[in-house]
Amino acid sequence: MARYLIVADIHSNLEAFAAVLETAKAEGNIAGIWCLGDIVGYGPDPEKCIDLLRQYPHVSVAGNHDLAAINRTDLSDFNETAATAALWTARRLSKEYQRFLGSLPLEAVVGDFTLVHGSPRDPVREYIISAPEAMANLKYFDTPYCLVGHLHVPLLFRAGDGEACLGALPPNLVLGKERLVINPGGVGQPRDRDPRASFAIFDAASRSLRHYRVSYDVEATQAKIKRAGLPPSLAERLGYGW
Ligand code: ZN
Repeated sequence: MARYLIVADIHSNLEAFAAVLETAKAEGNIAGIWCLGDIVGYGPDPEKCIDLLRQYPHVSVAGNHDLAAINRTDLSDFNETAATAALWTARRLSKEYQRFLGSLPLEAVVGDFTLVHGSPRDPVREYIISAPEAMANLKYFDTPYCLVGHLHVPLLFRAGDGEACLGALPPNLVLGKERLVINPGGVGQPRDRDPRASFAIFDAASRSLRHYRVSYDVEATQAKIKRAGLPPSLAERLGYGW
């Protein structure tokens, strides 16, 4: 039975994404990648991250930064640093890569999972950061489980009988009847004060989802960000996971 790598918010961070793939493959075959958007933006290697993703069978949805890089969303929701990086990314993407990002849907369904970037209700903008938001989103997807990114923080929302709750994503989660919203955390720019790349693997045989953190060469990415002339704060934040 197959194992699927679940990644979100790669953000043009090739060192982080490569480290995630290495770790995932070290434990066995990966049948495919489920990518929850924001492949590009913030980081220095947009095309190389897209290349790496496309080496594998993958189901990917678009994030707000992917759309910003191809002028499909206006930058008024972006802070100055994010907007600067989006414009930098847009200038570096050749037509073929722009077409690839433009081909990504906002939502995808794979088996029991719905994949979106922000939320099923608003895949481009909404952050699921609290139980009421997750609860309100339950009626916007039909599968038992929904995978989201956007927040860059690993989280689990359980829609249990009566007591819905949002909390940390456990190291090993066995999927049952309960409806869940799962954020695997961010690969290329984690924001939970842990600089290690965050991701998950779904094992179809055991119907379990494992959460991983992996170290990567943060200094190499930081040096590339500075050389590229991207805002220096984008390099600094990688050092402390924010
Ligand atoms: Zn993001």
